[in-house]
Amino acid sequence: MKSLWNDSEAAQLTDDLSLRVYSSRLLGSDPALVLHGGGNTSVKIAQPDLFGQEEEILYVKGSGWDLASIQVEGFTPVRMEPLLKLGGLDELSDMEMVNQLKTHQTRASAPTASVEAILHALLPYQYVDHTHADSLIAICNTPDGEARIREIYGDDLVIIPYVMPGFDLAREVAKRFPRAAHRGTVGMVLMNHGLFSFGASAKESYERMIELVTRAEAYLQAQDAWELPETQVIPATPDFSSIPAIRKQICTAARRPMILKSYRSPQVLDFCRREDLESLAGQGPATPDHVIRTKRLPMLGRELHAYTEAYREYFETHAPQARNPVQMLDPAPRVMLDRELGMLTLGKSAQEVDIVADIYRHTIEIIQRADRLGGWRALPAKAIFDVEYWELEQAKLGKSDKPPRFQGEVAMITGAASGIGRACAEAMLSRGAAVVGLDLDPAIEGLFDAPGFLGAACDLTDPAALTQALQQTLLNFGGLDMLVLNAGVFPGGCAVAELSDDEWRRVMQINLDANLRLLRECHPLLKLAPNQGRVVVIGSKNVPAPGMGAAAYSASKAALNQLARIVALEWAADGIRINSLHPDAVFDTGLWSQDILEARAAHYGMSVKAYKTRNLLKTEITSRDVAELAAELCGPLFAKTTAAQIPVDGGNERVV
Ligand code: ZN
Repeated sequence: MKSLWNDSEAAQLTDDLSLRVYSSRLLGSDPALVLHGGGNTSVKIAQPDLFGQEEEILYVKGSGWDLASIQVEGFTPVRMEPLLKLGGLDELSDMEMVNQLKTHQTRASAPTASVEAILHALLPYQYVDHTHADSLIAICNTPDGEARIREIYGDDLVIIPYVMPGFDLAREVAKRFPRAAHRGTVGMVLMNHGLFSFGASAKESYERMIELVTRAEAYLQAQDAWELPETQVIPATPDFSSIPAIRKQICTAARRPMILKSYRSPQVLDFCRREDLESLAGQGPATPDHVIRTKRLPMLGRELHAYTEAYREYFETHAPQARNPVQMLDPAPRVMLDRELGMLTLGKSAQEVDIVADIYRHTIEIIQRADRLGGWRALPAKAIFDVEYWELEQAKLGKSDKPPRFQGEVAMITGAASGIGRACAEAMLSRGAAVVGLDLDPAIEGLFDAPGFLGAACDLTDPAALTQALQQTLLNFGGLDMLVLNAGVFPGGCAVAELSDDEWRRVMQINLDANLRLLRECHPLLKLAPNQGRVVVIGSKNVPAPGMGAAAYSASKAALNQLARIVALEWAADGIRINSLHPDAVFDTGLWSQDILEARAAHYGMSVKAYKTRNLLKTEITSRDVAELAAELCGPLFAKTTAAQIPVDGGNERVV
């Protein structure tokens, strides 16, 4: 492991706290040291209080901050004196500990200090760095882990046996550290948990951490446990059709919808196909920071290895307000391993799913290295249960925010690269749904830079492309809950007397046939939607009030409307609702340029503004107006409505 310290960059920073931020970010930038909010750092600074009295303050990483991106505000200032007193107590409940941390901070608006704050205070060094280095955890999790740690570090580190993170760990360190430490002590190992380094400067503490981790890596290399064997598995495309049913079963158990993502890299598949998978993965997590429960799950006739995980540090960092007992206690697994499907990870959002996957990919590496070293040995179940209990204590402190309406759900939107489709994607994303956007335009692929968005360039009239898009949906999100049929063409005006067969067929193929195919292919998925399937059809004012010169368009939309009504009849038994919107005169779409608008307005002898608002309410209809209503049609307000046709046209005499 290389030191990333740069003397000229560091020279720009003059105060202790800025240097603390700088080296914390260096640690955070390496996922082999800290993952997603793992690890924490501190610096002790003497400074005058409001009355001119000098006091010693511990600046320690606060909840809600990730070392990779931490800033000065991310460090919570807490008075050292009470922290040291707390470290001398025999007992302190986790709730009271958090209360004490909060009440002794000197900036009210600062985040709650890390639960390892007391531990940081107890270590008598100005800078303290703490990581959960993969290589160290691999070595700890072997039958003779502690002996190996002693062999690597000799007397340079103080070794603390595993104790659940929180006050008990701080008290253990308070007892053991002063007895074991000496002038040459450069750090501390918390068995099965992580590594501490310290120093009189930010650079010294950081570079000691790098040096200590390098020694662990070198040990693994020397024992031929570093390089993992080259993978031989060639991933064949498996049958994904079981995925939505697996998701449904888990969501039913969890009593909320969740996103499920499949990972099938050769490394992951190699691990999933190991003969000894059960004894390796079934033992438990790499570190109790990551996993709280392990169980086997009979799932649709196949035994999947399932791990229910709660990420203490994930919640601390990414969702400090979102902790609540229901979330922590739901019985849904977060990681499942299967020979064919690979690693399936679950979460309430695509972002959470990615984090779970990242953590488990590291776990796979850790398990394999430990296995090569002398046998993987996870902590006993007791320690894991303790963390679970601790989580609950923590959970009581968290405020429970109302989750976004479509959290854990998946929406597919056709024609999503622009206009109403794009606005629908925004409306669904803003309500917490994962969104699959389909469009002919390749720009769809990069339309939104969010883990919950999957854009696929796709010609909906091509059945093979459609199959592929649905496969991508299942791989990335695990199912489909909502479908917005928006894609369509509006050809230029053409009287029936001049309408060619080709033009008629082209419009029908896109506006009607492709939607029939999509509805049919999505039916088995919508049937398995945990909160029941919903379909929204973006129709047209032309359905109730057709216009001259738009025969193919009006007929295709009217046929689609009739198709939706039949779907409402046929799919009601599956709990699937389908409703239609009939927008009119939506001008902020790709179809309408300023030139065309001006020409049309002139044609009617109107100003552009008057042309845009020629409806009963004299109001302009935007893509967003249509999209917001489309999203709401999928929500609880319309839970008892199917086969409705709602105009979004500002009021039109011919429709009224
Ligand atoms: Zn830790």
